[in-house]
Amino acid sequence: MSYLFINRYTRQLPGEKSGDAAVFDRRPRQVFQAAWSAAQPTPVSDPVMLAWNGPLADQLGVNAFAENAQMLADLFSGNTLLPEMQPYAACYGGHQFGHWAGQLGDGRVINLGEVRANDGAGWTWQLKGAGPTPYSRHADGRAVLRSSVREFLCSEAMHHLGVPTTRALSLVLTGDKVVRDMFYDGNPQAEPGAIVCRAAPGFIRFGHFELPASRGDISLLRQLVQFAIRSEWPDLAGDLDDCQSEAAETKVYLQWYQRVCDLTLQTLVHWMRVGFVHGVLNTDNMSASGLTIDYGPYGWIDDYNPGWTPNTTDAEQQRYCFGKQPAIVRWNLYQLANALYPLIGDAVALQQIVDKLPGAYEQQYQQMMAQKLGLLPGQLRSSPLLQLLENVLLAQETDMTLFFRGLGDFALPGDSRALHECVASAFYSGSVAPENIPLYQQLEAEYRALISSPDDDASMKQRRNQMNSVNPRYVLRNYLAQKAIDALTQGDASVFDALWQVLQSPYDEHPGSASRFGGLRPDWARTRAGCSMLSCSS
Ligand code: AMP
Ligand code: MG
Repeated sequence: MSYLFINRYTRQLPGEKSGDAAVFDRRPRQVFQAAWSAAQPTPVSDPVMLAWNGPLADQLGVNAFAENAQMLADLFSGNTLLPEMQPYAACYGGHQFGHWAGQLGDGRVINLGEVRANDGAGWTWQLKGAGPTPYSRHADGRAVLRSSVREFLCSEAMHHLGVPTTRALSLVLTGDKVVRDMFYDGNPQAEPGAIVCRAAPGFIRFGHFELPASRGDISLLRQLVQFAIRSEWPDLAGDLDDCQSEAAETKVYLQWYQRVCDLTLQTLVHWMRVGFVHGVLNTDNMSASGLTIDYGPYGWIDDYNPGWTPNTTDAEQQRYCFGKQPAIVRWNLYQLANALYPLIGDAVALQQIVDKLPGAYEQQYQQMMAQKLGLLPGQLRSSPLLQLLENVLLAQETDMTLFFRGLGDFALPGDSRALHECVASAFYSGSVAPENIPLYQQLEAEYRALISSPDDDASMKQRRNQMNSVNPRYVLRNYLAQKAIDALTQGDASVFDALWQVLQSPYDEHPGSASRFGGLRPDWARTRAGCSMLSCSS
């Protein structure tokens, strides 16, 4: 079987050392003037494939492997390497919870290499949980089943919701135990180990640029920026080739930074649309390709609450809660601008881009909300609708996903229900509280006035269909992921399989799955670990 491994990251960027000795040198260390270190997966004892993403494998041209189940498990656990692979761990730094953390790097990810996919794009494969690397510090380089299931399902759920994300190609049970103290409370447990193979056109993080900038290594910074441009932006790469002066290069770097901002904002707006809370938006978890990356203690909004964060480590500060994501993403983009400054040298130009971020976000957010409401973008500009909406969502515990889905049914031909009746399935108490009816009436009056031609049956149905294409029927509620994990831990893959199936078309109704995966978060999940509270321990 021959694969076209192009391995641009290791071929075009400086590595730490080469040779067999370096490959097996896993001692923690600071790595200078290099974007990666050679790293070898540590073999696992009994790899078993739990989930294989056939459609993605087709896209990447990898399905030929699928004929041999054991070979697949061996490859995607890191037990077998193909000769063309060039395994490495990337070197990057980052700001964690607002503080500069210095060098971080791939502590438990080992990149196998980059393949040319069927569509001509380069896709890097990496194994998360493949054993220690020079960046593991004193941790074990492994991942447990629960966090790997969460990573796998969420990557795929996001992709099918239309949110830019890294993808998950496979999920392998390693046969080894991994010890974790889930709540850092002195109760370590041995848990089943697992490895997810992630795939993406790029795994470069904001922290990739921050680290050399912090060390004054402008040469590496320049190489990384040029690499990011050349690997993903052919038009800018062409401009870079034509540059005759440093000033011309600076212009291209600025254009690239602008594009990173644009992509990042787009992804952020999608998170706000579907009710996704990343949970750990440190700059090492921000992708320079604008992808959602590093699924750890993430969560989905059940009852609408901008102050909610799933991450117990962040419970007090709530730095990374749902409603603060826009401000945090801006802060992270600002850190990226700081990192690029030594290369670009034009503070005014960088500042101009940064200054436009709040307005750009606001505009895109409004456009997105207009779509969720079945309105035209301009209709929200001078309307109090968004405030009225916020008022009702906060008045009582109301499920965000079910609320917006129900809203599509409002004012349909032959249906005279009040707005609060259309969204009744979203109320955690079972019904609208009488004292909130006036708030609903205000919202209803305003909304009815904005809906275009309310007497036109066809346009009302069209509005509902358009709303249902951006308001998902199914999201990966935290408790659903936990149910899949509980069953898998008992050796039962049926919940995982059924959930994954539904998440592949999350805007469709799937009547047979509605009661199983489409209802409110049950009461038992309010306090259960993994459902409402998650830690970084994974
Ligand atoms: P995260 O918060 O998961 O994005 O991880 C932050 C840093 O810790 C990254 O450098 C990870 O590679 C590293 N890390 C997290 N878990 C482990 C682990 N079990 N072993 C080694 N490194 C880890
Ligand atoms: Mg990370």
